[in-house]
Amino acid sequence: MRRLLLATLLLAALCLAAPAAQQSPRLIVIVVADQFRADYLTTFAARWRAGLRTLVTEGAVFRRAEYPYRHTDTCAGHFTIGTGTLPRTHGMVADTWWDADARRTIECTDDEKAQPVTYGLASKLGKSGRWLLVPTLADELRSQKPGARVVSVSLKSRSAIGLAGRGGDAVTWFEETAGVGSFMTSSAFTAQPVAAMKAFIERDSFEKEFGQVWTLRDPADQYRFADAGVGERPRNPRIGLFPHATKGLTDSRNDAFLLWRESPLSDAYLGRMAIALVDAFALGQRQATDFLGVGFSSTDTVGHAFGPESREIEDTIARLDDALGALIAHLDAKVGRANYVLAFSADHGVAPIPLASGGGRVAGDDVRERIDDVLTRHFGKASARWTVAGGGQPKLADGAMAKLVAQPAALSEVTRAVESIPGVDRLLRTDMLSEHSRDPMIRAAALSHMPGRSGDFVVITTPNWTMTARNGTDGTTHSSPHDYDRQVPMILLGGGIKAGRYDRATTPADIAPTLARIAQVAMPKAEGRILQEALR
Ligand SMILES: [Zn+2]
Repeated sequence: MRRLLLATLLLAALCLAAPAAQQSPRLIVIVVADQFRADYLTTFAARWRAGLRTLVTEGAVFRRAEYPYRHTDTCAGHFTIGTGTLPRTHGMVADTWWDADARRTIECTDDEKAQPVTYGLASKLGKSGRWLLVPTLADELRSQKPGARVVSVSLKSRSAIGLAGRGGDAVTWFEETAGVGSFMTSSAFTAQPVAAMKAFIERDSFEKEFGQVWTLRDPADQYRFADAGVGERPRNPRIGLFPHATKGLTDSRNDAFLLWRESPLSDAYLGRMAIALVDAFALGQRQATDFLGVGFSSTDTVGHAFGPESREIEDTIARLDDALGALIAHLDAKVGRANYVLAFSADHGVAPIPLASGGGRVAGDDVRERIDDVLTRHFGKASARWTVAGGGQPKLADGAMAKLVAQPAALSEVTRAVESIPGVDRLLRTDMLSEHSRDPMIRAAALSHMPGRSGDFVVITTPNWTMTARNGTDGTTHSSPHDYDRQVPMILLGGGIKAGRYDRATTPADIAPTLARIAQVAMPKAEGRILQEALR
């Protein structure tokens, strides 16, 4: 209560200090590229001719933006950007976690109480921001500014909902479950398909793009990276070489949409969808402050398959530059640069392809088996398994951690068994984490930790070693606490923003409170700092 009061007083003081002429922007836009490393901005700079060019030349560019926490994945990143808080506060600690009540692993946006509302084929999977513990900027906007419209679109539910939060007028994602492959929303947002979204999908069907061929945007000799790099793992039947078909070996619709998702065609489509919704909802074109969230996903799907040093990612980002350019040009024309404020960032980066970087892969299954073996030796066979969830955050069956803590010899045996796996640097106990620790890994792990959702242990891999399932087919991945996963671009553009280069340390949790400050919306729960240095 006292914090709330303090925040309200602070906000009131800030509002009084603001120049009288300054108006609330009519539109707040957050654009997130999934798996976009900070160094892409400079590595591929020669490519920019549209949106990214506008952002780096006319925006406020924060050159030292990084996530301070360990578990760098899509759910954690988008909800951090959306809420201005860290995972240990917003609770969306990972893409999936073990649900002790349901006794199964769930996705962070799963909600069995929400009915799926489809724009195509039926789905059984309801999604919402049910597990989110704090409001997003868009949630605060809806409750504090009457008439605010909230639109958020992505191929992933955790991205669209991560930016929107618990409500919104058109919150849309793509359900990629076999046999579904359709754009969706849920009863958490609307009882019926949203007319404007339905109209867009009918007018511009993504299924018309099945069978199209992904070719290079620019002449081949302009690309920095060679085609068919070592360790690439494209989806069947693609090979490492351009051009890439958006068609499987058969006419399977399933194969086609997975290949479409793993190509820049899907980002271009999402860009067109965002533009159509700006018009349909007259976002930023009324006496109100609206919100638009756009989560581009193909940088992630292409990045997992081909890695950060591939011609494919280079071309995907070149085409994202065009999609962003079209969106910014549309906002400039319809809303006016001074009347909107746009933030661009990413949810996480990515590791270089282990095969090419001298690293390797750690199978989460191996970690799990080693823990199981030690516990079985000491305590006998478990009724099901000693570890109920594996991967980078192993979780033990109920009561097992207490047994281990009571037997220090068994506990150190677990640590030794896991740390002797090649590519594992450390195994941390989550009951020993502290965000005030002098140890940066313990600090980072604490900021990702939520008791009940996170595991009992955290695996820290050696740099350039990725953590996957034993039968994982990705070329590379993310989710580690290493620089390549934590460092992301962060750029603000538009009304109220002072263009320039900024070298003070920032985190993507600073985005929401800064945009809220510009829009004069209170965010009492936000933990990020207001980026005063870039405000007019
Ligand atoms: Zn990913």
